[in-house]
Amino acid sequence: MSEQEKSDFIREIINEDLKTNKFNGRVHTRFPPEPNGYLHIGHAKSINLNYGIAQEYGGKFNLRFDDTNPEKEEQEYVDSIIEDVKWIGGKFEEKILFASDYFETMYEYAVRLITKGKAYVCDLSGDQIREYRGTLTEPGKESPYRNRTVEENLDLFQRMRSGEFANGLKTLRAKIDMASPNINLRDPIMYRIIHEEHHRQGKQWCIYPTYDWAHGIEDSLEGITHSICTLEFENHRPLYDWFLEELEVYHPRQIEFARLNLSYTVLSKRKLLKLVSEKHVAGWDDPRMPTIAGYRRRGYTPEAIKNFCDIISVAKRDSVIDVALMEFSIREDLNKRARRAMAVLHPVKVVITNYPENKTEELSAVNNPEDEAAGTRMLPFSREIFIEQDDFREVPPPKYFRLSPGKEVRLRYAYIIKCEKVIKDEAGNILEIHCTYDAETKSGMANAGRKVKATIHWVSAPHAVNAEVRLYDRLFLKENPDEAEEGKDFLSNLNPHSLEVLNSCKVEPMLGSAKAGERFQFERLGYFCADAKETKEGAPVFNRIVTLKDSWAKIEQKEKP
Ligand code: ATP
Ligand code: MG
Repeated sequence: MSEQEKSDFIREIINEDLKTNKFNGRVHTRFPPEPNGYLHIGHAKSINLNYGIAQEYGGKFNLRFDDTNPEKEEQEYVDSIIEDVKWIGGKFEEKILFASDYFETMYEYAVRLITKGKAYVCDLSGDQIREYRGTLTEPGKESPYRNRTVEENLDLFQRMRSGEFANGLKTLRAKIDMASPNINLRDPIMYRIIHEEHHRQGKQWCIYPTYDWAHGIEDSLEGITHSICTLEFENHRPLYDWFLEELEVYHPRQIEFARLNLSYTVLSKRKLLKLVSEKHVAGWDDPRMPTIAGYRRRGYTPEAIKNFCDIISVAKRDSVIDVALMEFSIREDLNKRARRAMAVLHPVKVVITNYPENKTEELSAVNNPEDEAAGTRMLPFSREIFIEQDDFREVPPPKYFRLSPGKEVRLRYAYIIKCEKVIKDEAGNILEIHCTYDAETKSGMANAGRKVKATIHWVSAPHAVNAEVRLYDRLFLKENPDEAEEGKDFLSNLNPHSLEVLNSCKVEPMLGSAKAGERFQFERLGYFCADAKETKEGAPVFNRIVTLKDSWAKIEQKEKP
């Protein structure tokens, strides 16, 4: 999608702000992850949106860690997030920012509000605060500590900071309106006491700001113009605005959009963490995970992810996107650039009895019919080859056009062969299929011979490389994994067959030197990526990225002489 084509309600707001010169012509966005997990595809949507806007308007884009809760945050997550944002293509301003670097300023700002009589130290417990807050239909009750004097509040807040009180004994709250129809304005908490080491600040702090208090200040200090966040913050916007107005500081504009939901997928960090910590998957970068690290390891390209984000665009209403659209994006991208290769996942041996022993021929194969520049390669052909078990049926069902006794089939880039005999063991298992070939039917020859209804892939047996192939399927069986039976949760919808490991695949020689992360189309099977962690020279491990669709029908059409 070209940049000019993009138009949505957020870009309309920005155009309007540029027209009225609201931010002196500036556009400055940010991506503010909390380092409490790996990024997922929903975050990719947010990065694509925020960075895309900065780029289109010649503005700036910050990567800022919202590291305000020491209980769940870790350096490992910080590192993975930086790597993932870069991989997705988000080019952030050189300095990576951390909300925790503003803790001192936030503290001063809190003192400012206390001094104005707009914040107070409250001794109610968490439960009491909840009880006093009221409901959507009932107003809240004022805290008995609400009318402490400014001096007392300043003294207590200072003592909160210096570590005099245990967790939960006191909070700092904004003094707004306990009867507000918007519950977020009923004296929200600004600081809570958490005696916990912070991954960057160490033991310097034992009071930590809440999201609502911290976020607007972070945006303001960085000169963000448009603070784009997901819909659940819509009801928090009045609070975002209240804090900045009361502080009398630079005031960015918050805009909300609908978060990405994908079918057959969970996108909450809490649930993803559960999948990892309870070992339902092999880690955050398990190729079945909807994390950016998982998609990368699976073999997705950043271009396909960006294209997906562009297609789904942004909206003001929540919806669920079909995961098939993601699969469509990667297929479309790889069709253009993945080299074709021959791989047999469930091999059975075929002996071509009239082909000379010890002879090897080199046959020319096209690397990518969609990309002439990709050229051709040579495929060795010999008397013994492997084909897929599924491409042979002793008793063919109706309309089965592949190999069966007495029938002919074309070998891709090679000859037409005819099945003469099936060799079995005592138990009836097929050991070998004996065929004859017709030397007059070599692919590419002017007169390549008779028409046959099917073309199958193969690998020369003495030249084949052994490979492990991992077939990945959707991680969940249900379109909405959260829809679970009474008393059960999303884990009950896990797909028990989401991973099938095949250890004795036979692949063409070129694949033996596949580089970690290299992607191929295995003819007739799908797109595969050499696993970035486990592929070794001569011993490749391939992850299935996505199956093929329809394209084989087209090839068969073209191959017909
Ligand atoms: P989760 O709900 O998955 O735990 P989060 O919102 O708590 O995610 P943050 O690290 O706070 O995660 O998110 C960073 C940014 O990414 C925020 O601006 C948030 O709005 C955005 N974001 C998170 N999830 C999605 C999503 N599914 N679609 C679009 N944007 C998202
Ligand atoms: Mg969040």
